[in-house]
Amino acid sequence: MNSYDCVIIGAGPAGLTAGIYVSRGGFKTLILEKLAAGGQVLLTSEIENYPGFPGGVKSFELMERMEAQAKSFGVVLEYKEAEKIRVESPEDPLKRAFILNDEIKSRSLIIASGAGPKRLNVPKEDEFIGRGVSYCATCDGPLYRGREVAVVGGGDKAVEEALFLSRLAGKVTLIHRRSEFRAANILRERLKEAQNVALVLESVVEEISGDKAVRGLKLRGVKSRELFEISVDGVFIFIGINPNTGFLKGVLSLDDGGFITADERMRTPLEGMFACGDCRRKDLYQLVTACGDGASAGFSAVKYLELLKKS
Ligand code: NAP
Repeated sequence: MNSYDCVIIGAGPAGLTAGIYVSRGGFKTLILEKLAAGGQVLLTSEIENYPGFPGGVKSFELMERMEAQAKSFGVVLEYKEAEKIRVESPEDPLKRAFILNDEIKSRSLIIASGAGPKRLNVPKEDEFIGRGVSYCATCDGPLYRGREVAVVGGGDKAVEEALFLSRLAGKVTLIHRRSEFRAANILRERLKEAQNVALVLESVVEEISGDKAVRGLKLRGVKSRELFEISVDGVFIFIGINPNTGFLKGVLSLDDGGFITADERMRTPLEGMFACGDCRRKDLYQLVTACGDGASAGFSAVKYLELLKKS
């Protein structure tokens, strides 16, 4: 069985930053990643509000740099999903170890598994994924050059991606269930300037229509209760995030939304286990706060491992 001082689950900005701190602290560190290093940030093309990059930075480039930096300090990155976690000696912190997938042993564990897009849960949503339903404008936007698309949601992500899509699509219809957007003021102002973005407010999607692919949406007015339809070739859904924490059931108690509760040092109730980034319940889900979380988790893990070493 391979043994590490610290295993980090997830190679998004939180996990990679934690990796930099733990390996730089002199401890043998493994990051497990099930898909691609970079995490959810890669679903956005450009990042404007990460400090140090006036004019913005391409998300792919920034994440490649974070990965290279973590590896430069000795982090091992393995592409493997963490499916099963067993805690050895849960009663005794001095002997405690975390066993992952029955094949990797670690003295400490940092959960940085991130989150994924929330589903609308309306008819044909699942059926039409890849055939008009998308959760990633960077990935699928170019397929809709000159065509008509809808964006659902009222937060930063929906408005940011509606603006991105407006540069590719012929027309973007932004559908939001309230009359006010949750998105930051700067994004709401930009929305007013976009020529080809139409707003459909106080409306919800009841059904996605089409035979073999998306052809339109059936919407209902929240106040009027009236049903109406719009024709679109694609629908991009940005209505928030769901944490990737299913694999922790039975190991750690999660809150109602499935998020991990950790204190400001990123310590979970289980000593030796830390959590950081979008899988943690917090106020602000941003790239810079994911990195901040990762730094705190890494720092706490180093302190924990140093104490174990001394005892
Ligand atoms: P969010 O801020 O949670 O907003 C979700 C939006 O979807 C809200 O407007 C919400 O409506 C709406 N919504 C939720 N469930 C819905 C449903 N079932 N049907 C219709 N509409 C629904 O999520 P997000 O925009 O994905 O952002 C997630 C986090 O990442 C946020 O903390 C955000 O600030 C951050 N983020 C930051 C940036 C940036 O700084 N550049 C970019 C992207 C994301 P209500 O408003 O009515 O609740």
